[in-house]
Amino acid sequence: MKHELPKLNYSYDALEPWIDAKTMEIHYGKHHQAYADKMNAVLEKYPELAEKNPIELMKNLSNLPMDEKDRSAFKNNGGGYINHSLFWKVMGAKKEVDESLVRAVESAFGSAEEFKKIFSETALGQFGSGWAWLVWDENGKLKIYSTPNQDSPYSVGHTPVICLDVWEHSYYIKYQNRRAEYVENWWNILKLI
Ligand code: MN
Repeated sequence: MKHELPKLNYSYDALEPWIDAKTMEIHYGKHHQAYADKMNAVLEKYPELAEKNPIELMKNLSNLPMDEKDRSAFKNNGGGYINHSLFWKVMGAKKEVDESLVRAVESAFGSAEEFKKIFSETALGQFGSGWAWLVWDENGKLKIYSTPNQDSPYSVGHTPVICLDVWEHSYYIKYQNRRAEYVENWWNILKLI
C-alpha cells in the first residue's frame, strides 16, 4: 500500500499573503510528495509494515524490524510525511479556535500570549532546518520544543498538537532569510489558537 498525501482543505493561495501560493505549491506538491515517495520506497521492502499507519510506526521507531540505513530513511522521510500532514491541518484562512486547547495552553503557560512568545522564540532558536512543536508529553503535559531535520515527537512518545515548519523551503520565496517575519505572520493562519 502506498501512502498518499492528505488532501489540502484549501487552495494554494488560501493562506496569502502570509504564505504565498508558489511556496504552498512547491512545499506540498514537491517537498511533501518527495517525503511520501521516499517513505513508501523504504516501506515497500517491509510488506508487514507497509500496511500500517506511519504514525504508529514512528511511535515504535527504535524497535522497527529494519536495518539501520532504512530506519534512518524512515525517520527522515516518514517524519517529513507525518510532520507536514499535521502542518497543513493546523493552518487555515479562517480561525477554528479549539477552546479546550486554548484553556489548556493558558493553564500550562499562563496565557495564550505567553504561549505564542515562547513558541516563537523556540522557532527562531532552532538552528538550521527543523520544526517548532506544541506537544502532549508522556505525562499528559503540554510542552514546547524544537526538533532538527524531520525528527518527529511521536518517536519519543509525545503527541504533537501544533507544529511550525522552519526549514527555509517553507518561507524562502517570500521571506528569504527573514525567519522572524515569517514566524510572526504565521500566527495569522494558525487556526486553532
Ligand atoms: Mn517543509
